[in-house]
Amino acid sequence: MQQTIFQRIITREIPAAIEYEDEEIIVIRDIAPSAPVHLLIIPKRVIPTINDIAEEDVQLVGKIHCIAANMARKFGIAEQGYRLVTNCNDYGGQTVFHLHTHLLGGEPLGRMNSSSVTHATTTPSRSITSTAVFDVAVFVLVAIGLAIGFNAMNPKAIAWIKPEFERQLATQNDINKYVQNTASPTTQTQQQAQQPQVQPTTDTARKTTTLAVNTATATTAQSTTAAQNATSTQPAAAAPAFTPEPGVVREISYDMFVRLLEGSKHYLIDARSAEKFAQGHINGAANYFGGEVQSRIPDLLSNVPRDRVVLIYCDGGECELSHHVADVLKQFGYGPIFIYTGGWAEWTSKRK
Ligand code: 5GP
Repeated sequence: MQQTIFQRIITREIPAAIEYEDEEIIVIRDIAPSAPVHLLIIPKRVIPTINDIAEEDVQLVGKIHCIAANMARKFGIAEQGYRLVTNCNDYGGQTVFHLHTHLLGGEPLGRMNSSSVTHATTTPSRSITSTAVFDVAVFVLVAIGLAIGFNAMNPKAIAWIKPEFERQLATQNDINKYVQNTASPTTQTQQQAQQPQVQPTTDTARKTTTLAVNTATATTAQSTTAAQNATSTQPAAAAPAFTPEPGVVREISYDMFVRLLEGSKHYLIDARSAEKFAQGHINGAANYFGGEVQSRIPDLLSNVPRDRVVLIYCDGGECELSHHVADVLKQFGYGPIFIYTGGWAEWTSKRK
């Protein structure tokens, strides 16, 4: 039978850091220590595993423990405590089949549990930590994976990279090309052109309707209908002939928006969610939610006329929803497209 590494160390065929030796037992430092003190207490008699300990070995095995205690004292770890481990066969993690006991100490080794037993011979204290870290890492990775998956399937998905939109302000000249006159028609009478024809049922509703919005009775289905009907948004009778400007997207102020609403041939889009649209929107607007616009491209193409200015608004601010819609229309050659950056927030406050 081939000699084990420990037999070859005992016969000095292979060198080792010997800490103790007598006629029956040798103690060496482990070549790959798993703790500040890691010694191997090895009986010289050839006993492959714990399973092979015979009656006549009992005293020798007892001696291993006595020597372990002596070595612990020698290394100054007896009082703080240490661990003795003897692995047996494959599941026990035994790699050298010559009976030996590991003496581990010099740092807190933690409690033994089922997972640390598996790794006890290699990293008795760190195994607990590394197992916990591994579990947490797996949990985090699974959570991230699920989040990415749900996000990918969600039509209102969060964009991982914030898109960069063209944010160019329109000039008065840009607006003048499409309105019937160049004066800003923001008089009360002109504002009333945008008032909805609705019957408020409560004080709150009445207040809402005075903001030139439709009532909160609309549903998603109704908003689709609104999308189709919106092609008939009142074109200004004397609006100048439409000059297409494919791909042109400009941001506009409230005054410019009002001028275009009242004086141009236009198609008005509300890019907010169907729920918000249902709660109130600018009269004549069609609803295309910017977060789901990719799925509404066929609708857009069949409903948005090419011979009108496209006006888009959302909540206001960065106008990402409006820009999403504008981007799609731009790709299909629509233009000019004007984004009212004040959006619903400014519109409602101005119309109070
Ligand atoms: P086992 O895995 O069988 O319980 O433990 C065997 C131990 O022997 C391991 O901790 C391993 O690092 C150690 N070992 C393996 N080869 C050598 C060697 O050549 N010299 C020394 N000093 N230790 C060794």
